[in-house]
Amino acid sequence: MNYDQSNQRDTLFERLSGCFLGGPKPDNLPGGRTEALRKLHAYDSASYGRTRNHIEGTVSQLSPFLRHGMLSLIEVRDHLRSKFPNDPSRLEEFFRQLAWRDFFEKVLTWYGHGLDEDLEEPKHGITRSSRIPLDVLSGDTGLPCIDGMLSDLFDQGYLHNHARLWFAAYLCHFRGVRWQEGAKLFRQHLYDGDIASNSASWQWVEGTFASKPYFMNKDNIANFSSRKWCNSCKVKCPFDADYPTLQHRLFAGSTAPFFSKVADKAAVTNNTQPASHVIPEDIAMLPPSTDLVWVHDAAISWADECLAQNPNAAVAFVFNKPALQAEPWAYHRLSFVADGIDDLFKNLPNSTKLTLVGDPVERLTTLAHKLGATTIHISEHPNPWVIETADQLRLKFRVLVHPRTTLTVYPPEPKRFSRYWEKVAIQVLGHRPSSPKRKHP
Ligand SMILES: Cc1cc2nc3c(=O)[nH]c(=O)nc-3n(C[C@H](O)[C@H](O)[C@H](O)COP(=O)(O)OP(=O)(O)OC[C@H]3O[C@@H](n4cnc5c(N)ncnc54)[C@H](O)[C@@H]3O)c2cc1C
Repeated sequence: MNYDQSNQRDTLFERLSGCFLGGPKPDNLPGGRTEALRKLHAYDSASYGRTRNHIEGTVSQLSPFLRHGMLSLIEVRDHLRSKFPNDPSRLEEFFRQLAWRDFFEKVLTWYGHGLDEDLEEPKHGITRSSRIPLDVLSGDTGLPCIDGMLSDLFDQGYLHNHARLWFAAYLCHFRGVRWQEGAKLFRQHLYDGDIASNSASWQWVEGTFASKPYFMNKDNIANFSSRKWCNSCKVKCPFDADYPTLQHRLFAGSTAPFFSKVADKAAVTNNTQPASHVIPEDIAMLPPSTDLVWVHDAAISWADECLAQNPNAAVAFVFNKPALQAEPWAYHRLSFVADGIDDLFKNLPNSTKLTLVGDPVERLTTLAHKLGATTIHISEHPNPWVIETADQLRLKFRVLVHPRTTLTVYPPEPKRFSRYWEKVAIQVLGHRPSSPKRKHP
């Protein structure tokens, strides 16, 4: 970042005051499509299938870029396919994981806000708390493995998939916390914090989107982490038992479905912050434009159809201040998105490009009036707030939602990955799958 950019970044974060947790760190992951393409081109998936469940395995760490639309699933798949044309089996497991992301997006498309609540009856009758205990929030549970995962979450903004499963099982089953609280913690701190993959995975662990809850024991953690925490651990391990014993301890010996559901209508944080009505000076004098592209935080790419088809439109990204005040993100997450916008704007031919802060509907409405814009272009996405924002803008403007190409076409209700995979594997792989089914995502 040069001096001007760093000044602009300071100004942006001043305007975002109250919207973030913590502050800048030297090792923030740089965001943006340029960095995403660099990482994709450097990635070698050779040992992925063999090592991906191990926390030192050769995973790609592409999820933050996929989450923000800096890359698409199709371009990742096509790039790897063209890089290793003669080795389809090397890519199969990786492509199957890409399909998990696609599956969860379909779950979000199907259920919308319904994904915020249990999709199925819990398979146990245990009461859940709506507060994360303080020792967890401060990363000081006394368990080296859990504290190590929390430190990665808070400091690195990234957790390996297996660590996410372990931590989610710990929080829900061993500490008795509602999955929604864990999902919120992940959304705030993970670079890839998401609605679809995040909430659906927490529900998978809790057993409200799976036939039974997921939990692990000490052997599982030790094996897939090369004992990196266990070797120095001096505490009595709550995971040290065989699976039947743990099941009994956690669920009183039963995972029978349809126990009575404990009503827990705890604090759902509502967005009560007033929208900002301040028009920043930089949008006071703008050249007129009949078209405005709203770039949302899941479509930060110049390859996005919405932008590619509108090289002359004004372009705006809006940091959703009311939403961020209600659920602040870690500084590194916001910084990653801000990098992504800087990188996008550098690479767009459009002459009017703005980063705004406030309520998106209010900011975009004010901007469109200033520009004299009559049409607002939006990239299609299943996130409910994107859909709701488009609906509200439609009351005043012509709104064109540009469809995006998804990895698969799968119209039925997405209930179980195995059924979805049976139907879509050929679409994703280009051939029948050869590897056996795996136990967890
Ligand atoms: C409790 C829990 C919460 C999660 N929350 C999120 C989240 O907020 N955002 C998010 O992007 N992913 C989430 N995941 C899914 C998964 O853990 C991450 O996508 C993956 O760890 C990202 O690392 P990677 O890019 O190195 O993955 P790789 O192993 O390199 O996989 C390549 C890509 O495939 C997709 N993928 C891989 N594993 C999964 C999976 N299990 N589910 C869905 N997609 C997958 C991702 O897009 C990933 O980037 C969550 C999983 C769990 C168990």
